[in-house]
Amino acid sequence: MRMSNLFVQTLREFPSDAEVISHKLLVRAGYIRKLSNGIYNYLPLMWRVIKKVENIVREEMDRAGAQELLMPFVQPAELWMESGRWDVYGKELMRLKDRHNREMCLGPTHEEVITSIGREGIRSYKQLPVNLYQIQSKFRDEIRPRFGLLRGREFIMKDAYSFDADEKGLEKSYEIMAQAYTKIFERCGLETKMVQSDSGAIGGSVSHEFMVLVNEDSENNAGENDVFYCTKCGYSANSNHAVSNLNPVETDGKFKKPEIIDTPNTHTIEELSDFLKIPQSVICKCLIYVIDGKFVAALIRGDRTIEETKLMNAFCGNEIRIARNDEIEEIMNASSFNAQIGFIGPKGLKNVEIIADETVKDLKNFVIGCNQTDKHLVGTNWGVDVELPSKITDIRLVEENDKCIDCGSNLKVTKGIEVGNIFQLGTKYSKAMNATFTDKDGQEKPFIMGCYGIGITRTAAAAVERHHDEWGIKWPLSIAPFTVIVVPVSDQDEQQMSVAEDIYNKLLNENVEVLIDDRAERAGVKLKDADLIGIPYRITVGKTIKDNLVEFKTRETGETITISPDEAVNKIIEITKK
Ligand code: ATP
Ligand code: MG
Repeated sequence: MRMSNLFVQTLREFPSDAEVISHKLLVRAGYIRKLSNGIYNYLPLMWRVIKKVENIVREEMDRAGAQELLMPFVQPAELWMESGRWDVYGKELMRLKDRHNREMCLGPTHEEVITSIGREGIRSYKQLPVNLYQIQSKFRDEIRPRFGLLRGREFIMKDAYSFDADEKGLEKSYEIMAQAYTKIFERCGLETKMVQSDSGAIGGSVSHEFMVLVNEDSENNAGENDVFYCTKCGYSANSNHAVSNLNPVETDGKFKKPEIIDTPNTHTIEELSDFLKIPQSVICKCLIYVIDGKFVAALIRGDRTIEETKLMNAFCGNEIRIARNDEIEEIMNASSFNAQIGFIGPKGLKNVEIIADETVKDLKNFVIGCNQTDKHLVGTNWGVDVELPSKITDIRLVEENDKCIDCGSNLKVTKGIEVGNIFQLGTKYSKAMNATFTDKDGQEKPFIMGCYGIGITRTAAAAVERHHDEWGIKWPLSIAPFTVIVVPVSDQDEQQMSVAEDIYNKLLNENVEVLIDDRAERAGVKLKDADLIGIPYRITVGKTIKDNLVEFKTRETGETITISPDEAVNKIIEITKK
């Protein structure tokens, strides 16, 4: 391809709305253009990268025995009603009506459609196992689309679904996918960590996410997930699922008698612990949440934080948020109190379900809100002054240096970008949608299913997050839009131009994906663009061509060597054959 023909416009500046480096670079280097919030045009360079990622995914999925198909992007509401998700999926599901007033949605994922395919197409255990996958645009009306391709509203996903006759089969299908995923990301030039994760609204029990770790890079804040991991035994989990053992702290307070005392203006745990001169760990925090429209009071030791996904899961909920001021007022009115936030306690609350984190169990002589503004109950003990809630479970966020539950070492935390995930769904969809097969024993049984996603566009963006420098992108060779760019320094110099053309043609003949910068631009512009666009190799034909020498530069390392044009051609051919 000739740069003079290539449809690309590089920009001098980063776009003003971009926060993370992949977004900045992909726009500036002419890969993507925003059409609407969270919706992007994939321009020719980007499309080449996307096709590379897709093909790696295809090759490894096919090798793992999966079969590609393509399901419709627009789906009828009836299927979602059958699975029960029409009512619970929330606003991310883009709903629309056709001309006959029938309800439809834009596919955010395809469990319902694939289950209907399995239901019609698989009659007998003899047809199992099956793994079907597609690569397709998805639409999710994300609440906060951001970071360019990392969190779009429209994005490309590979989604695969396995059907098995029993749990053992599912475990095997799952393991095969886990291995394929590791290979896929490796081949895309991305090191990933497979971490335990929450199964969320999609259902099922066992699930893992593949995380690209990003916090080694200090300017980088693209990792939306916190990953806790143990360097000793390898335990690792998303913060929404991570568990830990606690380090010992003071849990017996200094107030030995129950008493309501004045604690003016102590709206936060910090203020209260400063005022009373007590550690935060002898305070019992009480936070009001709204889970699927119902009020919940969550109790936790003052020095720890609630993990909202765990809390939501404790109520099998789909949506969680902290209660608003007017809702707190509503609860206070119903309970005949009128305390402000910061002074709420569980005792006497009406229309509120109470749940406690395990951390509160061992508290003695502790401090707790008593539903009177500017006052707290000190010297509190469970069963004497306040009832210990019957619902007690782990709803807390793990913290760095908590102890690993498997081996007791200190846990560490890092940021991660989730590029893929795998779920053991079990019978969630097959039961709800009555998708069954006849087993060996003649019985009708629901399929045991798994589902497996990879964000194609997110993976490409994650590669930029991991591979760039101040000058631009450094694509891993396997997903680069072109392998090499040939740059004649002066388009006025006949010898430079003819050698550059010669190198270009030789590489084209070898089916190398080669660009030639034949534009009438200054050398500086051409070299800057080559670095910005991130082509892995550059052959620069300049003045030294008089001595039959060109410059051969490796983008990743910045290493430059001076060799003959033929040697440069041979080096590229060798590299592409590897
Ligand atoms: P997230 O927690 O990041 O929202 P998810 O759990 O909703 O992801 P899945 O529904 O399992 O993700 O989708 C499978 C894959 O699709 C994810 O692992 C991710 O790589 C990609 N993906 C999900 N949402 C988006 C998005 N809004 N933009 C780009 N890629 C996405
Ligand atoms: Mg999501």
